[in-house]
Amino acid sequence: MHTHTLAQLAEGLASKKFSSVDLTRHFLNRIQSLDATLNSVITPTPEQALKQAEAADERRSKGQPLGLLDGLPILHKDIFCTEGVRTSCGSRMLDNFTAPYNAEVVVRLLNAGMVMLGKTNMDEFAMGSSNETSYYGPVRNPWNTDRVPGGSSGGSAAAVAARLAPAATGTDTGGSIRQPAALCGLTGLKPSYGRISRWGMIAFASSLDQAGPMTQTAEDAALLLQCMAGHDPKDSTSVACSVPDYRAELNAPLTGMKIGLPREFFNETLDPRMAETIFSSLAVLERLGACRVDISLPHIDLSVPAYYVIAPAEASSNLARYDGVRFGYRCSNPTDLTDLYVRSRSEGFGPEVKRRILIGTYALSSGYYDAYYRKAQQTRRLIQHEFDAAFKICDLILAPTSPTVAFPLQDRKDPLSMYLSDIYTIGVNLAGIPALSLPCGQLDGLPVGMQLIGPYWGESRLLNTAHRFQQETAWHQAIPAQYR
Ligand code: GLN
Repeated sequence: MHTHTLAQLAEGLASKKFSSVDLTRHFLNRIQSLDATLNSVITPTPEQALKQAEAADERRSKGQPLGLLDGLPILHKDIFCTEGVRTSCGSRMLDNFTAPYNAEVVVRLLNAGMVMLGKTNMDEFAMGSSNETSYYGPVRNPWNTDRVPGGSSGGSAAAVAARLAPAATGTDTGGSIRQPAALCGLTGLKPSYGRISRWGMIAFASSLDQAGPMTQTAEDAALLLQCMAGHDPKDSTSVACSVPDYRAELNAPLTGMKIGLPREFFNETLDPRMAETIFSSLAVLERLGACRVDISLPHIDLSVPAYYVIAPAEASSNLARYDGVRFGYRCSNPTDLTDLYVRSRSEGFGPEVKRRILIGTYALSSGYYDAYYRKAQQTRRLIQHEFDAAFKICDLILAPTSPTVAFPLQDRKDPLSMYLSDIYTIGVNLAGIPALSLPCGQLDGLPVGMQLIGPYWGESRLLNTAHRFQQETAWHQAIPAQYR
């Protein structure tokens, strides 16, 4: 059962080959027996899962109305609030926090009939590209357990790659869905900003954060997006435009589609073996009728520096709420209020989170605001305009997802080298546009991902292109040896 996609499992449930309880037990057993090394699931929720599965089986047997993904299991990144279940965001600060309500994403997937198997490990407050900043320890990549799974949604990626769940949710502020998807051989979609509600999703950088699906296939990503997307009055940045039928477009022909290759990405800095892998994938798309156009994003190299001003600035403000007073970690025996704040925050946050708070507070302080924050926002607008201009001459943009395959644990100790893991993904978040990473090859036995970037609300075209590619190739079906 675990080698099946969501779409295949849905058929199995419909034709009564197995029940939701069978399916849920199977995945819970896999988590229990296989996750000790990976450390991808930090809070399994077996009792709740079995109750939800029993309810799904009952709905089906009584002929009651069913949700689109009724009875199918999923894991949620521990950044989404889950009622009555610990919601830690990978931090000691929230290790004792049980959310009193469900995130909108969680509610929508519950309403679609899905069964929550548990919560996945992640970089602390989603800050990282290797899942090594988690308070609960690093996650290991199922393709090679000496390597990182990518981050910050590393737990979700490792769990789905090892088939401990058929799919998982993630969030992407600067690449955290796409980069781990690439490093673990999955399909990961960051939708347009505003497509999915951020209500109940713990905030890192609010103008960049977006939830999305992490799956085996584009078809499964379409199924999940269908349920997750849509306006939510509780999130003022969620956009009130209608949600298309993503599955209806999956098989559309690619004839005449123009795929733009940014010359700033395909230059001598790109690993030649990575470039070769991506070019042979482009050849597949060309055989399907797409054609290549060369484009330019002249200021894309400024996306990492702009992001590392804007994201920490927003984080420093968002993380001010963790003061040891109302919820979360509180130090023992504070001598006065200042001591309570200082020690609760010093003991509750890890080093990367502190670094971001310091950078952000500095960039926003008077005298530096114009020099850093305003400049970064101006750069962001410039990058948005360059993407807009590119989409006047192409329908989609093709790019690498990550400069390298999964790297060894503890390999990138210097924060700058870690920040450069996201050079191909961050511009997309600054522009607010959608992008999808999908497996397109392997190097040294490790998955390689390629990225398709679309214009605002272009999710359908991304899913369509990825789906057509996956019908011609088998990279998305590869499963690491010990987990088959
Ligand atoms: N790696 C980037 C960072 O550390 C992006 C993280 C994310 O997308 N949540 O900020």
